[in-house]
Amino acid sequence: MKIGIVGLGLIGGSLGLDLRSQGHEVLGVSRRERTCEIAVARGAVDDAGVELALLADTDLIFVCTPIASLRSTVAELIPKISPDTVLTDVGSVKASVVQEITPLWHNFVGGHPMAGTAESGIESALHGLFAGNPYVLTPTEATPEAAIALLESILRPLQVKLHYCRPEDHDRAVAWISHLPVMASASLIAACESDKATLELAQLLASSGFRDTSRVGGGNPELGVMMARYNKSELVRSLYAYREQLNHLLHLIEQDNWEALEAVLQQTQQARPNYLKP
Ligand code: NAP
Repeated sequence: MKIGIVGLGLIGGSLGLDLRSQGHEVLGVSRRERTCEIAVARGAVDDAGVELALLADTDLIFVCTPIASLRSTVAELIPKISPDTVLTDVGSVKASVVQEITPLWHNFVGGHPMAGTAESGIESALHGLFAGNPYVLTPTEATPEAAIALLESILRPLQVKLHYCRPEDHDRAVAWISHLPVMASASLIAACESDKATLELAQLLASSGFRDTSRVGGGNPELGVMMARYNKSELVRSLYAYREQLNHLLHLIEQDNWEALEAVLQQTQQARPNYLKP
C-alpha cells in the first residue's frame, strides 16, 4: 500500500521504519528539508519532502505532527488528497482532536499508539517501537467501517494491541496512567530540589527507585505542557484525586496509624500488576 506520514519525528519516523519493513511504500512530509534527508537516509521513508502535495495519491496518511498543529496539518492536506484517502492521527489526546478533524474529513480515524521514549526528532526513531504495546483507536458513530478496517489491516502486522474506545474515555484513562504520572513525578523531583541542605547527598544516594519514579517527570517539557493544555479538565480531575490520596497518607503517618498505612500499601501492592499485564 502507498502510505503517507506527515511529521517525521519520533513517532512518524518509527512508524515509517516499521511500515517499510512490512513492504509498504512510505512517503514522508516534514517541516524541515534536513529532517526529510535524515528520514530517507535512515530508511524511515522511501521519499520525503516539505510539500504536502507529495502525498497526493496515497491510500492512508498518518498525521504525526505535534498536537497543536494536527488540525492545521489536516486542513492543509485536504485540497491535495483524494476523497478516498484515509487519515489517522497519533495525538496523545483524542477528544479535542477528533472533534476538530471529523468535520473536516469524513474518512478520519483517531488513533494513539501508547509507546514512546524520552527523546524526540527523527534521530530518535526506533524500529519495533510499537510492538507489544497498546494502540488505541477512537472511531465515532460517523467513522466509516471501511476506514477502520483499512487502518487495522496496516496496524495488526506491527504486533500492536488494538483497543477501541470513545475519545472522551481515552482522555480520562490516559489522564490517570500517563498525564498524572508526569505531574506526580515532576513534583517529586521539584520537592527533592527544594531541600538545598541535603540535595548533594540525596543526588549521590539516588539509585534504581529514584530512577523509576522520576523517569516521566524528567522527560520532554513540551510534551508535558501539551498533555496539560489539551487534556486539562481530565488532568485537573486526576490531580485533585491524587492530592486527596497524598493528604490521606500524610494524615495516617502524622497519626502514627501504621496499621491503616499498611492496609493502603497492601491494596496498592495488589492493584499494581493489574496495570502491567503482559
Ligand atoms: P517529535 O519527535 O517532535 O516529532 C514531530 C515532528 O513533526 C518534528 O520532528 C517536526 O519535524 C515535525 N513537524 C512539526 N510541525 C510540523 C508541521 N507543521 N508540518 C510537518 N511536520 C512538522 O514528536 P513526537 O514525539 O513524534 O510526537 C508527535 C505526535 O505523536 C504528537 O501529536 C504526540 O502527541 C504523539 N505521540 C507522542 C508520543 C511520545 O511519547 N513522544 C507517544 C504517542 C503519541 P521537523 O524536524 O521537520 O520540524
